[in-house]
Amino acid sequence: MTDLFSKFDPLIEQRAALLSTGVTDPFSLVMEKVLSPTVAICNGRETILLGTYNYMGMTFDEDVIAAGKQAYDDFGAGTTGSRVLNGTFDPHKDVEAALREFYDMDHAMVFSTGYQANLGIISTIAGKGDYIILDIDSHASIYDGCKMGDAEIVPFRHNDIEALEKRLKRLPAEAGKLVVLEGVYSMMGDVAPLKEMVRISKENGAMVLVDEAHSMGFIGQHGRGVAEEQGCIDDVDFIIGTFSKSVGTVGGFCVSNHPKFEILRLVCRPYVFTAALPPSVMASSAASVRKLMHGSNKRAHLWENSKTLHKGLRDLGFQLGTDEPQSAIIAVIMPDLERGAMMWEALLKEGLYVNLARPPATPAGMTLLRCSLCAEHTSDQVQDILGRFERAGKAVSII
Ligand code: PMP
Repeated sequence: MTDLFSKFDPLIEQRAALLSTGVTDPFSLVMEKVLSPTVAICNGRETILLGTYNYMGMTFDEDVIAAGKQAYDDFGAGTTGSRVLNGTFDPHKDVEAALREFYDMDHAMVFSTGYQANLGIISTIAGKGDYIILDIDSHASIYDGCKMGDAEIVPFRHNDIEALEKRLKRLPAEAGKLVVLEGVYSMMGDVAPLKEMVRISKENGAMVLVDEAHSMGFIGQHGRGVAEEQGCIDDVDFIIGTFSKSVGTVGGFCVSNHPKFEILRLVCRPYVFTAALPPSVMASSAASVRKLMHGSNKRAHLWENSKTLHKGLRDLGFQLGTDEPQSAIIAVIMPDLERGAMMWEALLKEGLYVNLARPPATPAGMTLLRCSLCAEHTSDQVQDILGRFERAGKAVSII
């Protein structure tokens, strides 16, 4: 018998070697208690959270929590079924209405996660004989959506407008084409040149899908994302989003103005063949999406936080993923996995949690400490964070 686990041996060995240096396992942190959107107890210690996707701090919003509690009372704990059978409750319809209002679009379809939204939409709309042209740094859920479908995959260099155009021009004019882009790329926190890319895609007869997971609620006049900010949202055919970031709950969605969009509810397997989210989560999400429509003060403070942290880290001598802050994500580039893990642990001992990110999630084999800011981080907390980075960076000789 061949042990099917033998393919994992290199990873098992790498992990064992890392842990043998005495560092804490960076991938098994437990939040023992969560005190607020920005503070939790980890390993018995009060810790500032700088590695969540809680950009707008909605997890503890009292209206969001109250809506969820009410839905528990009105609808029970779960749905026990698919959206197309017994799993559509009032809150599912309400959150889809909230999304249509938020994006000012005709259709909204909610999935159990953002991962499933990408999986479902991409694999269903691009089929045999069609082409998917995607940025090489696309999220795993986009790649998995491509794998699940039957379309030809054509990757292009990250954020490279000319490379996209070249690929498009080589494809048969009459073939179905879907260009897949992200507003904010989550590893480096950089933004896509969507306006140009959407224009080129349309000129070459392609439909466009933009994953705005990391920009919803924060970027753009109404928080609709990078496509709104760059003035090309009307030419985007499908926007994918998630509730697991700015909305502060869990779930995924696609919004669109395509006149035939609703047929997807019958043909999209990751929508049909899984249970609908609990009504409490849907009611909380609807309350949160509606509150995010009026979040401009919070957005301004989040930008301030992002700018202050970016400048502060750069002044301390850290190497960052972008020259300027482009989103609420600031990636600090580590020399290698071992020192990245040491720095991660030194920060945790300082009472600061960031994300340690490594390949295959990261581009170009990089190890990153990813910092994601929250609109609820106070200016004092941001200064405090910089002090902790300085002490940890010196302790492990990275600065
Ligand atoms: N798209 C992008 C760009 C993401 O970063 C993520 C999650 N990190 C997802 C989709 C998946 O979202 P969810 O957590 O809701 O599955």
